[in-house]
Amino acid sequence: MILLDGKKTSNDIKDEITIKVAELKKKGRKTPHLAAIIVGANGASITYVNAKVKACEKVGFESTLVQLPEDVSEAELLSKIDELNNDDRIDGFIVQLPLPKHIDEHKVTLAVSPEKDVDGFHPENLGRMVLDLPCFLPATPYGIVQLLDRYDIETSGKDCVVIGRSHIVGSPMSILMARNNKVGNCTVTLTHSRTKNLIDYTKKADIIIVALGKAEFLTADMVKEGVVVVDVGITRVKDASRKSGFRLLGDVKFDEVAPKCSYITPVPGGVGPMTIASLMMNTLQAMDMK
Ligand code: NAD
Repeated sequence: MILLDGKKTSNDIKDEITIKVAELKKKGRKTPHLAAIIVGANGASITYVNAKVKACEKVGFESTLVQLPEDVSEAELLSKIDELNNDDRIDGFIVQLPLPKHIDEHKVTLAVSPEKDVDGFHPENLGRMVLDLPCFLPATPYGIVQLLDRYDIETSGKDCVVIGRSHIVGSPMSILMARNNKVGNCTVTLTHSRTKNLIDYTKKADIIIVALGKAEFLTADMVKEGVVVVDVGITRVKDASRKSGFRLLGDVKFDEVAPKCSYITPVPGGVGPMTIASLMMNTLQAMDMK
């Protein structure tokens, strides 16, 4: 079993970006600038946004954090987005999800200019992805593709099962794995909460990408020997022995599944850091496109 080390791979990517940023500066070009909007004080969201800001510092990007109160109105948020869309200093920005219930996420996604949509959530970017045109790929699926690519994992002709059909992970992932690309050319089955007898699909799969948000859902009896498993899930469970008071669990029962795998991502240290590296890649691309 080989561990797909997202932490190391994301650090490699960030080192490559750092060099590119230094080159840009030498050529007198501006420093790439990522902004993030966060609404409210959700603990996990704050952790993710802080990690993104830290990554910007590491690669030499500028970053701006816009913090809005939990009770900010939808109109105020949309107005802030409009401001960032029209701010030439900002190359790309994200709106950290989830948003409070009184705000329509679809409206927010549509409001972000596709040229600055470095999370790759705008329908224009998703549509371009489906057509294999240049676009911002959604950060988590892009990170998974990078990880599989950098570990030279053969995907062509393989049976790939994706568990979970969210707009930000499962659905785009299923499209990317079926594309005619180096990482791609799989026969993909997209499974979800209404899938009957999921085990019938996972048992036959060469590659399983698990993104449903249920801790330790995928168990050893559900997979075959030699499978490649990518665990996207992050669930916080209480753990009094930790300083933070919690620990993170993936969607895979790691200890029993890992021995059957040819490759597997750990949680933490797998897909999470790759998502951040992808965001950095997309921001650099946003600046390059200007
Ligand atoms: P989501 O929560 O929006 O949706 C869950 C999906 O799982 C749905 O499509 C549902 O149909 C499916 N599902 C639920 N129960 C199922 C079952 N029993 N069998 C098969 N499918 C089932 O999904 P999301 O936003 O993609 O998040 C999934 C997990 O990934 C969460 O734990 C989230 O925190 C994590 N996540 C991690 C990263 C990262 O960077 N590592 C990024 C995004 C999401």
